[in-house]
Amino acid sequence: MGVIDEVKQRTDIVEVVSQYTALKKAGRTFRALCPFHSEKHPSFFVYPEQQSWHCFGACNTGGDIFSFVMKKEGIDFGDALRLLAQKAGVTIPSRFEPEAGKEERERLYQINQAAAQYFHNLLLNSAVGERARGYFASRGLSPKTIADFQLGFSLNSWDALKQYLMERGYAESELLAAGLVIEAEAGGTHDRFRNRLMFPIQDIRGRIVGFGARVLDDSLPKYLNSPQTLIFDKSSCLYGINLAAAAIKQQNLVVIVEGYMDVITAHQNGFSNVVASMGTSVTEKQVGTLKRLTKNVALALDADAAGEEATLRAIGYENTLEAEAKVIILPKGKDPDNVIKEDVKIWQNLLEEALPIVDYTFNMVTAELDLTTAKGQTLAVEKLASIIGKIKDPVRQAHYVQKVARLTDKSVHTIEAVISSLKPSPVRHKAQEPNQEAFTRALRLISSSPVEEYCLALLLQHPELKGRNEGLSPEYFENSENREIFTAWQQANDLSSLKDGLDPAIWEHLDSLKTRSLPANQIEQKYANCVLRLREKFLRSLEVKRAGVLALEAESGGTAAELAKLEEQGIEVSVQLGEVFAQKARRGQEQRR
Ligand SMILES: [Zn+2]
Repeated sequence: MGVIDEVKQRTDIVEVVSQYTALKKAGRTFRALCPFHSEKHPSFFVYPEQQSWHCFGACNTGGDIFSFVMKKEGIDFGDALRLLAQKAGVTIPSRFEPEAGKEERERLYQINQAAAQYFHNLLLNSAVGERARGYFASRGLSPKTIADFQLGFSLNSWDALKQYLMERGYAESELLAAGLVIEAEAGGTHDRFRNRLMFPIQDIRGRIVGFGARVLDDSLPKYLNSPQTLIFDKSSCLYGINLAAAAIKQQNLVVIVEGYMDVITAHQNGFSNVVASMGTSVTEKQVGTLKRLTKNVALALDADAAGEEATLRAIGYENTLEAEAKVIILPKGKDPDNVIKEDVKIWQNLLEEALPIVDYTFNMVTAELDLTTAKGQTLAVEKLASIIGKIKDPVRQAHYVQKVARLTDKSVHTIEAVISSLKPSPVRHKAQEPNQEAFTRALRLISSSPVEEYCLALLLQHPELKGRNEGLSPEYFENSENREIFTAWQQANDLSSLKDGLDPAIWEHLDSLKTRSLPANQIEQKYANCVLRLREKFLRSLEVKRAGVLALEAESGGTAAELAKLEEQGIEVSVQLGEVFAQKARRGQEQRR
């Protein structure tokens, strides 16, 4: 899920708007005196179900949570996003930060680089580094590998690094911001990493964004990472990506493992397309980074970890990648580090035998069941249908529907019926239950704009549409991020300069629209149809809202003038809707001809 969707999911428009104007519940809506224009009679409405707002008074406009905050605070989309993110406790990844924090970030990269050099030097040259050198030697690492990964060692001291860096002109506050020192309870600060093996974590450009650190003895925690900082967001990092990127692109395949040592050993043995996720599960953000290099992902999974849950997660990656994810099943109790060191050939075989994760799950599920019995067949359909239902690519989904049908001796139609019966209820998971409401809201918000996105994808991929005036208006886009992209598109002379006019937080969304696969023919016609659908959607939604207000007004004895004005707006909307229907009918006739 992107950061924009995350903010939407965690934000309630009723709560936000009520900080600016007193909302009163009115049926399924909330109404208030409009916070944008002065009025005595409330004509401003908030719709919790759609998470939207509308003013039927002088403003005669509406939108979502972002457009509300933008309008109210007089700020742009990016600032509204950051404001709401802060309130909702969502961290905006540093790569989305605008240029404003650039110097500060540069400084943090420098500090990390200086710290990495310090740790690396201690590992190579200090007497106390002997044990650390012994450890890496026992794991079979060559001097070249140690240099390539800039491995290091931190002293068993409370302030060695702090002193070293402060002598080089870095302020204590900067060391704190970099996460290299921590505030002590008794006051003051001390080194975060003490007596540990140091693994600098680099971004794809080779800048050190943070550190992973491992103990040399049995003390706990065994692994310690840099905290979240302006430049370090664990969920978007991939260990080894700076050294792996070229190979990933060249081989058109990335192998994702779990541990630092797995990556290092793989690289030392010539498997340079290997990176590690920074936790047990791969995040959408990490998949997003990899997507720019390759669509082919293979996950190295422990036999025990490769359950149905892992499959469901992997299907999430597949949907993001718009490609298939494969799985490399490791021998029980072994990690890639062990396997590669034992015999490079075994690893090579595992790579060659990697199965698409859905196929692997099929094998697992069916191996446990007796498919000659009705009970076994039913269980198999249940288990597999829930997995197939998550696959977004219709071609791949159809392929697996057929496979289940064959395996269980059922008709394709039956399997499809089971899948669609599963659809309305989102993944039920214990941990998600308290958050179910927010979850459904997020799903609805995310899924509520396919026409908007389709329309934008057409515009972004077909510059020739720029000259066509189909009367598309920014207001037709309910989602602010889509509205932003459309407005930027309207203003840009050249599609390549589109990003300049957009907040970096929207770039990811923009890129996904630019690369979405679209039908290749009859583009102009598709675009015109799309605009009609958007206009119809907009007008219908407006009409439902207006009718609701009218009913409320009639009930509460609104003044004749107000009622008349709403009626008038209603007539205007019906006229426009009538035009849409007429156009649609004309189109239909043309297409039949
Ligand atoms: Zn207003």
